[in-house]
Amino acid sequence: MPDCIFCKIINKEIPAKIIYEDDRVVAFDDIEPQAPVHVLIIPKEHVATLNDLTEEHTELVGYMTQVAKKLAKELGIDEKGYRVLMNCNRQGGQAVYHIHLHLLGGRQMHWPPG
Ligand code: 5GP
Ligand code: ZN
Repeated sequence: MPDCIFCKIINKEIPAKIIYEDDRVVAFDDIEPQAPVHVLIIPKEHVATLNDLTEEHTELVGYMTQVAKKLAKELGIDEKGYRVLMNCNRQGGQAVYHIHLHLLGGRQMHWPPG
C-alpha cells in the first residue's frame, strides 16, 4: 500500500530498528515506546484493521502471536510478564492502519488500560 508507513518499513523505504524478520512478518521497536520493551509485530501483507481479517488470515495472526512469544523470551520479559494487544479503529486507539501486535513489557502493566 503506497501511503502506508508500515509497508514502507517492510520495503526498507523508511528506517526502523528491525529486531526480527522472516517471509511473513517484521518486528521492530516502536518509535515512541510506552514501556522499556515496546515492539511492533506486523504482517508483510497489508491488512488495514482487525475488521479486515478474513478466515484466510487465521494462521497468519496465530503466527504473529507465536513471534510475540518468541521475542518476549529473547528479550527476557517472558517470566515476569508482558502484554500483547491490537488496537482497532479510532476508538480503539489505532493510529497506523496496517495491523500490528504491540508487545509491551519491562514494567508493571495496569488494568484497566487508559
Ligand atoms: P496504534 O496506535 O496504531 O495501535 O499504534 C501505532 C504505533 O506505531 C504507535 O505506538 C507509534 O508510536 C508507532 N509508530 C508510528 N509511526 C512509526 C514509525 O514511523 N516507526 C516506528 N518504529 N513506529 C511508529
Ligand atoms: Zn501497509
